[in-house]
Amino acid sequence: MAANQSHERVLAIDAQPRMLASLQALAASRALPLDTTDSLGEARTMLAGGCHGVVLLDPGMPDGNGEGLELIRELRDGPGDVDVVVFTADPSSLAPVQALRHGASDFLRKPCSPEELLVTVQNTLERRDLSRRNREISSRLRRSERLYQYIVDSSPDLIYVLDDEGRFTFVNDTIQRLLGYQPEMLLGRHFSQIITRADRALAQCCFNERRTGDRATRGLELRLQPARGGNPVYVDLNAMGMYGDGDGEPAGHFLGTYGVARDVTERKHAEAIIRHQAHHDMLTGLPNRVLFQDRLRQTLAQARRAQTSAAVLFLDLDRFKMVNDSLGHSFGDRLLENVARRLRECLREGDTLARMGGDEFTILLPKLEREDSAARVAEKCVTALEQPFSLDEQEIYLGVSIGIAVYPQHGETMESLVKHADAAMYHAKAQEAAHFAFYDANMGSRLDHYLSMETGLRRALGNDELSVVYQPQVDASDGRITCLEALLRWQHPERGAIPPMDFIPVAEQTGLIVPISLWLLREACRECLALGEPGDPPRLAVNLSSLQVEQPDFVDGVVDVLNSTGFPPERLEFEITEHLLLRNTDTVVDKLRELSGRDITFAIDDFGTGYSSLSYLQRLPIHTLKIDQSFIQGLQNGGDEATLVQTIVAMARGLGLAVVAEGVETTEQMRVLQSMNCHSMQGYLFSRPLPASAFGHLGQQGTGTPCPSTTQVNAGSRR
Ligand code: C2E
Ligand code: MG
Ligand code: MG
Repeated sequence: MAANQSHERVLAIDAQPRMLASLQALAASRALPLDTTDSLGEARTMLAGGCHGVVLLDPGMPDGNGEGLELIRELRDGPGDVDVVVFTADPSSLAPVQALRHGASDFLRKPCSPEELLVTVQNTLERRDLSRRNREISSRLRRSERLYQYIVDSSPDLIYVLDDEGRFTFVNDTIQRLLGYQPEMLLGRHFSQIITRADRALAQCCFNERRTGDRATRGLELRLQPARGGNPVYVDLNAMGMYGDGDGEPAGHFLGTYGVARDVTERKHAEAIIRHQAHHDMLTGLPNRVLFQDRLRQTLAQARRAQTSAAVLFLDLDRFKMVNDSLGHSFGDRLLENVARRLRECLREGDTLARMGGDEFTILLPKLEREDSAARVAEKCVTALEQPFSLDEQEIYLGVSIGIAVYPQHGETMESLVKHADAAMYHAKAQEAAHFAFYDANMGSRLDHYLSMETGLRRALGNDELSVVYQPQVDASDGRITCLEALLRWQHPERGAIPPMDFIPVAEQTGLIVPISLWLLREACRECLALGEPGDPPRLAVNLSSLQVEQPDFVDGVVDVLNSTGFPPERLEFEITEHLLLRNTDTVVDKLRELSGRDITFAIDDFGTGYSSLSYLQRLPIHTLKIDQSFIQGLQNGGDEATLVQTIVAMARGLGLAVVAEGVETTEQMRVLQSMNCHSMQGYLFSRPLPASAFGHLGQQGTGTPCPSTTQVNAGSRR
């Protein structure tokens, strides 16, 4: 008899002490923990202790009266788990039935061999042991099953099992959060019910995957359909087939599919945003260069096939850089948004408006009936951007220059069309009157233009192609010339006179402006001195560029010119723009002060276009404000200009500054200005810029001498 593993004790209840004694001897020899009693009452007390698992009972106890059987029932129904082996001398054939019916687990009839008795008890103990272990295992199983269920249900991923026909046999709770289905609703339903129509064919071979291992579905993207409709949910699917392993199911028999689907909707949205950003300009939301090129490529392919025409428009804003530099980038950004909005309104649905960067935009007109149509769109854009923009209570005037290249006559490839539209735009910008231009084979590219301008300029300085002309500032009350503004001229050997607005930006970008400016200053000082000394000679005004002022030896250079030419510094006035003042103000202020200390004066040129604050007027040695010609030209129209000019004049008087009105072209403008008490003027009405020789007699001019060039006005020099 094996050792009792559960260490449960056995209680023998028998009326015969001899029987109990021999049982005890037997148990001792087999290390069976056995207690004995001959009284049912004592037995109850001992059993209450709970350490007995098996009771060996002779129900025919003398104090019995059927109480033995009663005890068996009590033990069966009671809370404890006790097995009763009935051991009786009752010869009745019903005794075993009766015992078992009352709840005994085994039956032995006296007399029996000690072995038989022990084997029966031992078997009972072992059975108990087994069933206890069974209970333990199933409880552990239940616990682990609950744990798995918990893990599966709280997984963020959708976990499912399909049968061999693709119907759900299991789906975790995630389906509810993801698609709004109760898991039970789907059991027995075919998986295709939750797949969007568009992805069903794809899902057919993957969602219901039959393959296993490396060949199974991994990372497949599918769209699932929520129970109540709406946007599909993107999932990343891993699925594999399940096969019988011979344990219950025939080995190799297809049982169904096990799968995990991860919600990747947010990632898909993020990807969509990134894709959008790769093809669109963040600021305006317009297509960017990449998307524009893509659309142009498609348009050209179609135009080639259908033998139709298309146009590319290249737009560059005028004056944007100045606004951006003086009012700040965030202001500039908002202005660009407004520009984009206005341009979009000029176009039809199939047209593409793109931002190429900075203040450059392109337009693609894919179906062009006639060349005129492109011109009409350009005109529309020009008109739209001519209207002032109101931002932060500021009125901003921008304007635009547009170049047009038409397929196929101006270019057959994407690159050539864009390049030629750009060249035409550059051409339009250089033309004062035109706002847009069609490409012409004679126009070089922007780069060609720039390069030829650069080499030309380098040569110009040594080749005597540069010269200085002078435009007088006049006191309109008596016609006296008070000042001559030196203006640079370039006579190109092949291209003729090139306007300063065309070549000065190139000179600034290449740095050539520095030696050229120094040359001009020396030349102007020399020529003005040569005009003659006596009387009240006019002063000399010279324009400064930012790059020039930024040079560390700028002050030394000026002083050197004054010393070497002997030009009196108090007759020299430098014209600076508001724009120049806004860049690195501190160093600029120091340099201007130093020159001011040497009696040189300063004028703010093109005043009113810089959108800057007026605080610098107090910080700087400013002597004169030159009101920009755009305001003067608007004087007759009865618009806001009159009020503006009036305000500037009053403000200048208040600050003790002189005022000069630039670009005075008509006597009407002159009269209005005089009525505003502004008498100092410059403009074609009095004289165009002329070589120094035209002012040869000025050294002798006295008070009241009229401007010699007013006669020129009458001679028809006005534009
Ligand atoms: P700015 O200094 O404002 O010069 C006045 C410009 O207005 C000159 O143009 C002049 O010819 C033009 N102008 C004068 N009166 C009238 C008029 O009644 N009507 C019209 N429509 N225009 C008039 P220009 O010579 O073409 O010079 C343009 C600009 O180029 C100058 O503007 C100045 O900013 C710059 N510039 C010219 N010479 C130099 C120079 O030597 N150095 C620097 N840094 N810039 C220069
Ligand atoms: Mg000037
Ligand atoms: Mg000016």
